[in-house]
Amino acid sequence: MTAVTVRVPAKVNVQLAVGGRREDGFHDLANVFLAVGLFDEVTAAPARGLRITAEGRGVDAVPLDESNLAAKAALALARRHGVAPDAHLHIAKDIPVAGGMAGGSADAAGALVACDALWGTGASREEMLEICAELGSDVPFSLVGGAALGVGRGDVLTPLEVGGEFHWVFVASDEGLSTPAVYRECDRLRRAAGGGDSAADVPAPAAAPALLAALRAGDPEELAGALANDLQAAALSLRPDLAETLGAGVAAGALAGIVSGSGPTVAFLVSDEDAADKLVLTFGPAARAASSPAPGATRLR
Ligand code: ATP
Repeated sequence: MTAVTVRVPAKVNVQLAVGGRREDGFHDLANVFLAVGLFDEVTAAPARGLRITAEGRGVDAVPLDESNLAAKAALALARRHGVAPDAHLHIAKDIPVAGGMAGGSADAAGALVACDALWGTGASREEMLEICAELGSDVPFSLVGGAALGVGRGDVLTPLEVGGEFHWVFVASDEGLSTPAVYRECDRLRRAAGGGDSAADVPAPAAAPALLAALRAGDPEELAGALANDLQAAALSLRPDLAETLGAGVAAGALAGIVSGSGPTVAFLVSDEDAADKLVLTFGPAARAASSPAPGATRLR
């Protein structure tokens, strides 16, 4: 048995339509995911018992116990196949932590693919997707990558066609935002606006035809006009400083800016690689350029 390393992408939600709060507390979503070329690498090496280590950006906020999503993925796979969860999982992080870019979900998908190879459990694609969906609504997309529409809790995926490369600049924040807190704030804002926050009060979420057409065409200007995130108002309400970041990026030449998922990372769509490099210079070390679509979990060695 030798170590297995899997590379996993971050994501940006080019559309995140959030339905009303369901009885079970979850929200139905129409979530248009795009995988972007910012990657974590998860290595599974032979070991006795399960051990997690991490290096890279923001690792102080990454738990190294069984609450780590990568550990949960390994344990779920071991349980299903009746094998001992013996692995040293090492996570090399480059995806901003708690940034709304699904870094933890990416690590879970990476750990699943790496442990499956290390242990020879031979899980089918369907089984992997099932385990991913149990772990969290963004995890199945981290496995498949590319572009996809997620409905239900966001985890029932349909692949989408993308007609070209899109260029992005991501501006991370020092402090993370809790995804459940952002959903609660979204519900609160809906109640405060007098419209109600239940599934009966809010229109059913659906992917916008103009957005899907922009992806198919690979046209950044059309996509810029169609970017939409129903959680953005809630993220800005909890973090008013993000509005300044959004304004600064557009003033510096971005085609459009959007809060990524539940934030606080802000994603700017730009026209090409040169524009991305210029915008990175405007924001300094908090900013990273990346292009999309990127492949899903990929074994490197
Ligand atoms: P999403 O976009 O899916 O809502 P996120 O990008 O906002 O997620 P993550 O980076 O996945 O957020 O981390 C959210 C929290 O999950 C962290 O604050 C951390 O405590 C916990 N966590 C568990 N496992 C991991 C992991 N492997 N990497 C990063 N965070 C993890």
